[in-house]
Amino acid sequence: MPDRKPPETRRPATDRVRTRSADNRRPGTKKLKAKILKAKPPAPAAPDAIDDATLAEVFRRFEAADPNPRGELEHVDPYTLLVAVTLSAQATDKSVNLATEHLFKVADNPAAMVALGEERLAGYIRTIGLYRTKAKNVIALSRRLLDEHGGVVPPARAVLESLPGVGPKTASVVLNIAFGEPTIAVDTHVFRVSNRIPIVVAKTPDDVQRGLEERTPARFLLYAHHWLILHGRYVCKARVPECPRCLIRDLCRYPAKTGGIASIPAPKL
Ligand code: SF4
Repeated sequence: MPDRKPPETRRPATDRVRTRSADNRRPGTKKLKAKILKAKPPAPAAPDAIDDATLAEVFRRFEAADPNPRGELEHVDPYTLLVAVTLSAQATDKSVNLATEHLFKVADNPAAMVALGEERLAGYIRTIGLYRTKAKNVIALSRRLLDEHGGVVPPARAVLESLPGVGPKTASVVLNIAFGEPTIAVDTHVFRVSNRIPIVVAKTPDDVQRGLEERTPARFLLYAHHWLILHGRYVCKARVPECPRCLIRDLCRYPAKTGGIASIPAPKL
């Protein structure tokens, strides 16, 4: 005979269920607490963009510090600029300059580049990322310039963007630097700086570009691209911005500014 308890001493089924689920909950709760303790604190909410007067003051200070900013890609004319910018995608300006220093000695125009050919061009730029694809694009765009535009880079966005390997950002840089058009190309530095200060808060480079071109006062539009890139490259760096030596530290609203800047007075420019 099985050893069965008399009915009055057995716990009701509902109690057994409740007890079992309470026991199961305890370790789960512990795990949850540990997870909460380990979790990163939520990122602070993005501040509102600075107002127009503050934005004008930002650019006024950039201009006072560097009235004639220059891009850092070596070039001698619109064609060599177009080639250099095409090569610079996902590469540093320094690495592109090292390669083009030798390349432009043998091919600084579309005809010479086509004559050089894809294989030899690849040899000159092999230290740059994606060099095979870039070599192919540079030869193809050079051939198109020869066949359809008399070997000249036209100051027309639609034409530039139709060339192999040339997107909106490359076209904006060429139009701005080579032809003096008031465009603001948004690379990783401009994107970061705009969202930090913030001038335009947006999730995509295209939206940041549109916002910057709308908001930037006309007198600063020509050089805004350079000032923002150089600021992002040398001061408002990606990992740790150098806020204590930043010209606009008192205007910037980035919540994670470095160096206890509250006590540092605004620069006189
Ligand atoms: S204060 Fe800091 S975060 Fe703000 S723009 Fe200057 S370097 Fe960037």
